[in-house]
Amino acid sequence: MKALEKSRPAPGLWQVDAPVPEIGPDDVLIRVKKTGICGTDIHIWNWDDWAARTVPVPLITGHEFAGEIVEMGANVSGLSVGQRCSGEGHLIGRDSRQSRAGKFHLDPETRGIGVNEPGAFAEYLRLPAFNVVPLPDAVDDEIGAILDPLGNAVHTALSFDLVGEDVLITGAGPIGIMAAAVARHVGARHVVITDVNPARLDLATQVADVIPVNVAEQDLAEVQARLKMREGFDVGLEMSGNQGALDQMVENLVMGGRIALLGIPPGKSPVDWSRIVFKAITLKGVYGREIFETWYKMIAMLENGLDVRPVITHRFAAADFARGFEVMRSGMSGKVVLDWA
Ligand code: NAD
Ligand code: ZN
Repeated sequence: MKALEKSRPAPGLWQVDAPVPEIGPDDVLIRVKKTGICGTDIHIWNWDDWAARTVPVPLITGHEFAGEIVEMGANVSGLSVGQRCSGEGHLIGRDSRQSRAGKFHLDPETRGIGVNEPGAFAEYLRLPAFNVVPLPDAVDDEIGAILDPLGNAVHTALSFDLVGEDVLITGAGPIGIMAAAVARHVGARHVVITDVNPARLDLATQVADVIPVNVAEQDLAEVQARLKMREGFDVGLEMSGNQGALDQMVENLVMGGRIALLGIPPGKSPVDWSRIVFKAITLKGVYGREIFETWYKMIAMLENGLDVRPVITHRFAAADFARGFEVMRSGMSGKVVLDWA
């Protein structure tokens, strides 16, 4: 089969001919139809410090996918050949305290497809049947291929009650933009999204009814005044990984405000903790998606009018993957989807 592999410890990915994976009794084999390129894949392409420490070579990469089940292991029940599906890319253990409590997304032994284990940038993917998420007709393959990052957005956005609240999202990357769409969908009052990249802010307004703010030019205090907000944002969703953005968020939050942190800072970063203490702010770190609660919620919202399709700005045949990565690396795109059909 065709696959995209990190074949050697250097920048880039290479198209290779690889054997179709053999499945075990608890696995399914999925014919991959569409895949999304993630920021994580860009780290792996660039071969930065994190990637060099984390990713074994050679490895088939990619973890955002939709496809169809073509083969099932002997123990698999409740699924069928021909079933359209996406799936959770985190492979979890079952022995930890959190896993045994049913909080699968908190299992410390988690391994990621396309990061630690063979991934989805391939014509076929082996996945434990447990990880399969069947897709209803309302969710087509290209949306199915971005459920992984949509899940990050949904998990973060649903961390706190947003009904009637004023929400500040820092970072209008694909995930921040989708989180803005979710905040709108679930009934926030004002949704303000910040970035320093005008193209990203433009895209945000095409995906959701949000107020874009370029923090390189505009002051959030003025934006609050314009919106007739008096005491600050109720909830912050940090989706940039930028230290300045977190400081700005704390500054613009109401007393007792709540912040969900998804963005990953590049290393240790200084935080003005006394501001956080004196403002009595709640901070929640967010990792991945809740398995499988986030999947249920996001598919239900997609069936009920949540539309994130405009966040997909580029579509390429899998053979043109290099162009897809180039667009993603430029920072001028939303989601980029590769077609394996
Ligand atoms: P992205 O890099 O495409 O988007 C980040 C955006 O933040 C960019 O548009 C950038 O211009 C913007 N930005 C930079 N400085 C800013 C500032 N001072 N204020 C406001 N915006 C600023 O990333 P993404 O794919 O949308 O992911 C969002 C973040 O979530 C990233 O940090 C990513 O690493 C992280 N992430 C975390 C998890 C997790 O499980 N915790 C999963 C996926 C992604
Ligand atoms: Zn991803």
